[in-house]
Amino acid sequence: MNRIYTDTLIVGSGLSGLSTALSVAEKGGQVILVTKESIDTSNSASAQGGIASVVDFSTDSFEKHIKDTITAGCYLNKPEVVKFFVENGPESINHFKNLGCRFSKNGYGHLDLGKEGGHTARRVVHAGDMTGYELIRSLKQAVLKHPGISILEHHTAVDLISTSKFMLSDKNRIIGAYILDPHGNILTVVSQTVLLATGGCGKVYLYTSNPLVTSGDGVAIGFRAGVPTVNMEMIQFHPTILYHEKATSVLISEALRGEGGVLVTKNGAEFMEQYHHQGSLAPRDIVARAIDHELKKSGDDCVFLDMTKLKKEFLQTRFPNLYKICLKAGIDMSTDPIPVVPAAHYMCGGLKSTPSGKTVIPGLFVSGEIAHTGLHGANRLASNSLLEATVMSKYVAKEIMTYFKEKKEQIPDPPLWSEDTVTNRDENVIVKQNWDEIRRFMWNYVGIVRSNKRLDRALARLELIRHEISEYYWNFKISKDLLELRNITLVAEIIIKSAIKRKESRGLHFNIDHPSSFDTATDTEIFPEEIL
Ligand SMILES: Cc1cc2nc3c(=O)[nH]c(=O)nc-3n(C[C@H](O)[C@H](O)[C@H](O)COP(=O)(O)OP(=O)(O)OC[C@H]3O[C@@H](n4cnc5c(N)ncnc54)[C@H](O)[C@@H]3O)c2cc1C
Repeated sequence: MNRIYTDTLIVGSGLSGLSTALSVAEKGGQVILVTKESIDTSNSASAQGGIASVVDFSTDSFEKHIKDTITAGCYLNKPEVVKFFVENGPESINHFKNLGCRFSKNGYGHLDLGKEGGHTARRVVHAGDMTGYELIRSLKQAVLKHPGISILEHHTAVDLISTSKFMLSDKNRIIGAYILDPHGNILTVVSQTVLLATGGCGKVYLYTSNPLVTSGDGVAIGFRAGVPTVNMEMIQFHPTILYHEKATSVLISEALRGEGGVLVTKNGAEFMEQYHHQGSLAPRDIVARAIDHELKKSGDDCVFLDMTKLKKEFLQTRFPNLYKICLKAGIDMSTDPIPVVPAAHYMCGGLKSTPSGKTVIPGLFVSGEIAHTGLHGANRLASNSLLEATVMSKYVAKEIMTYFKEKKEQIPDPPLWSEDTVTNRDENVIVKQNWDEIRRFMWNYVGIVRSNKRLDRALARLELIRHEISEYYWNFKISKDLLELRNITLVAEIIIKSAIKRKESRGLHFNIDHPSSFDTATDTEIFPEEIL
């Protein structure tokens, strides 16, 4: 009863998981898609700003988009990978139009193109300020109708099953995964291929724009199975999250600054011009560091985004959702500056992968934010991640089908999950205490501005906690919060060790003990044998 068989197991129901599921099923593959909460819960569904793609070739070009991406990425990007994603952009936009996605149009019936930080042209295709919701809506319609896709909501991936782990073959490959169901049972899903599309790791930090499902599970799961990580120190802190007790994790999109919003202190003084010639529209790493600096200098709790120079009617039409959310919190953005602070937002590093999602382990693929392809470099250009997720999914689906056709063979039955030696948990306080502790020291020591001492302190604390959690994990019955805690602990360690390895400051990684950049940009890799 607890063993299920399929061609492809997909973990995650964001843009990457749903897009790949649809493409694989359309090519004739049978898919089981598991997702931690409801199908609608993901970073993708929360995305506001839009997808970056060259659309208007009279004012923009692929070369410009490539240059902006590499400039924002501080030359840590792989130029050939950037070219690949940028040139695939227009086709992705068309794909979504064909799925029925309702992108915003201008008065002439053409796509309305927004502008965001670091972009030198208007190229952000959007659906009001709810682009992610609209993309997922259009995809979901097609996915739910497809007979080749079964969806298991409220199912959490625990770990991958490999042939080497159970000595089932001398050639290592992934043959499925253990999945926690909502009743606390562990299912064994046996599958020719597995795609991890679990997104980023915002929940490793105390303050984040990400929904609570984002605990870096896929990174930890893939790493435990043997895939190295690349550039995990490159955590993007979004500069402007609403600072309000009644509304947590609300992102104030960069598109507001693109339309003329200006960052000011509580006294109304503009400050961004001192930090960058693009002022409030400078790349995210620079804006986040500038705000951090201003707050440390003034001791204030937040800075403000001033939209009051824009007309109320425009704000209500261009940002209908954010306008309402702010109003609910007592802020009318047409008359009141919006209080904002930075928070962990996006993971630029990830599991090492090709742009078409192949990892070093046969049978295991990744797509979207979990993957490090070389697109983002040391700092993601705004709206390039939805681009990455959509473009990548199409190519991952092709890889999966090719692998599937080449390798179609009888998979040896892996053992069922054993709980013979575990008991029910005695104290929940251990999980809560460690959760809070990790997220707080990651924020304070491994946040926007780092130092050698802060990183060493974070590592020393983490090593203590790691042993406690490991012991707990193997002795007690598994639950979702315990799984997430185990995963954020591992991901936090990978981030700290990556940050310690990089002896320079570049893009999102700023260390006051190594403030300058080397002439040549190199990746930071962490291999499983360095930690496990
Ligand atoms: C508030 C916000 C606004 C953003 N705005 C933009 C924007 O305008 N433009 C842009 O380009 N990018 C934006 N981003 C970033 C972008 O949304 C993400 O990078 C992208 O959507 C990632 O897609 P994904 O499919 O890889 O992962 P996600 O969309 O995060 O999906 C991950 C899925 O995996 C599931 N999952 C995780 N762990 C497990 C597990 N163990 N078992 C089962 N399921 C699991 C989750 O529940 C979720 O369904 C924004 C992000 C946020 C948070």
